Amino acid sequence: MTTVTRFAPSPTGRLHVGNLRPALMNWLHARKQGGQFVLRIDDTDAERSREEHVDAIKRDLDWLGLGWDRFERQSLRLDRYNAAANDLRGMGRLYAAYETATELGLKRKTQLQAGRPPVYDRAALALTDDDRARFEAEGRRAHWRFKLDQERTGWTDGIRGETMVDCASVSDPVLIREDGGFLYTLCSVCDDIDFGITDVIRGEDHVTNTATQIQIFEALDDRPTGFAHHSLLVDADGSGLSKRLGSLTLESLREAGVDPLALLSYMARLGTSAPIEARASHAELIEGFDLNSFGRAPARFDRAEIDALGTKLLHTRPFEAVKPLLEAAGVDAVVAPRFWDVIRENIDSADEIADWWRIVSGDLTPDIADDDREYVATALAALDRAKPWDEDTWKGITADLKSQTGRKGKMLFMPLRKALTGRTNGPDMAALLPLLRR
Ligand code: GLU
Repeated sequence: MTTVTRFAPSPTGRLHVGNLRPALMNWLHARKQGGQFVLRIDDTDAERSREEHVDAIKRDLDWLGLGWDRFERQSLRLDRYNAAANDLRGMGRLYAAYETATELGLKRKTQLQAGRPPVYDRAALALTDDDRARFEAEGRRAHWRFKLDQERTGWTDGIRGETMVDCASVSDPVLIREDGGFLYTLCSVCDDIDFGITDVIRGEDHVTNTATQIQIFEALDDRPTGFAHHSLLVDADGSGLSKRLGSLTLESLREAGVDPLALLSYMARLGTSAPIEARASHAELIEGFDLNSFGRAPARFDRAEIDALGTKLLHTRPFEAVKPLLEAAGVDAVVAPRFWDVIRENIDSADEIADWWRIVSGDLTPDIADDDREYVATALAALDRAKPWDEDTWKGITADLKSQTGRKGKMLFMPLRKALTGRTNGPDMAALLPLLRR
């Protein structure tokens, strides 16, 4: 059976690192199995869904290179959900309820005060046709609940192992709101059936949902898909990440210049028993992915690790891969390959390409201490005579200076580095010198 997974965001906001976890896991799982990846937009909540978020979701996934094989939107499938709801009504598994939110809140409060779990009491099941007619005449509209079998519902979770939910302590889920709007719970099951989804990988906040959805699958006469629930992201101090997620949108990371592969490398291993490693391609990510390696413990998110991976990746990038970055930084195409080889180990981020190109072009303020003025002047004169510079120039000149001046080590090299680059550190001077354009 071909593996089919899906990522199913609701377009009610921008995607953030918390959403990336299921997106990437589903994508990697599908690719690893040679299967298919569906992008499904859960947009039945017309009030909160926005087209601009749908566009942003696609842009984010494009940026990350997480392509999809099929694109679906729930808002275009209402007929299917209607038919499924009718089927469930026919079986007596979907019933009308008329409580207002306030009434439900009161019930919950009373139950809690009496030390009972706040589970919906199914009062609506006892309504007669007359009761319902009276409610409708009062202007109330029904919302529709799925009648759960009050039994233990379990599955073998791809991450959590054997998992069991006692549906006797779960409220019958509302599948249709009083305004007729379908809730995700039913739509998702219909879609997972129709699109042949074989594995649902999502956050552990959906565990209870899964038990109710398994019952809906079974009521609709279909075998449930496989399920795997990953742990949620937490801050370095262990607290929930939800408050900071606004600043951790994929869009803001992209705008901050984060390397997509660094982000993916991090997220593909975060919360697993395997080490976090910089992966230079999607093929490498797929190769190193193992759903079974994810653990149940909350995953501690640390933004700094992404940048560190980005730096590592940058150092190993071949010229062809950074050519556009070099062009954007204004690097002369003739020397660009050589320039990249010389600087790449010495930069932490792509921004520094332009910094080094400026230095190479001679746009810098030499840093010369008073005590070094004479020494630097002698050295520069010698360098001038040694033109044109090649890879051996530096060695020859510094050997001469050493015997002439008696300087050695840092005293010999550092004043020259500072005079020629304006900095105290950077690439190997022997390799850099032939590139300098002063
Ligand atoms: N739209 C749901 C969410 O974003 C999808 C959950 C699921 O994967 O089934 O939470």
